[in-house]
Amino acid sequence: VSKAEAVRAIAYLRADGRRLTTARRMVIEGLAQTDEHVTADILARWIQHVHPEIHLSTVYRTLDSLCAWGLVTQVHQPHGAAFFHLAGAHEHVVCDTCGHIGDVPASEFDDLVKRLRDHYDFDLDIRHTALIGRCGRHAAEEARRRV
Ligand SMILES: [Zn+2]
Ligand SMILES: [Zn+2]
Repeated sequence: VSKAEAVRAIAYLRADGRRLTTARRMVIEGLAQTDEHVTADILARWIQHVHPEIHLSTVYRTLDSLCAWGLVTQVHQPHGAAFFHLAGAHEHVVCDTCGHIGDVPASEFDDLVKRLRDHYDFDLDIRHTALIGRCGRHAAEEARRRV
């Protein structure tokens, strides 16, 4: 995540003729400032810390709007609350054992997306769902246990 993504999101907002309210700016900048995968609650608490006058419900509504406009992506995961991201070029993998969330460039899925389109007439969209599996750490632990 980078500042550039925030600048781009704000530019899109303006190009659509929408107002850059404090809440909108705080949500975009908050998401741009972290590599963590933040839930609506965490984001709302950060923003309230800086701008106590912004209600939690305003933050939630702002997230909904930004998602609807395609500037922010909501990602669901199997355990725990959905998290939010500035719309960008990466997808997510979640470890079912330890909950670690990893970023994977969207281009890694290009072949799969193309094959599903060509062979199954299906347009895959994995932006809103983290893919579930197991991260490398546990394989190493198991190997140690087996010795
Ligand atoms: Zn793990
Ligand atoms: Zn991510």
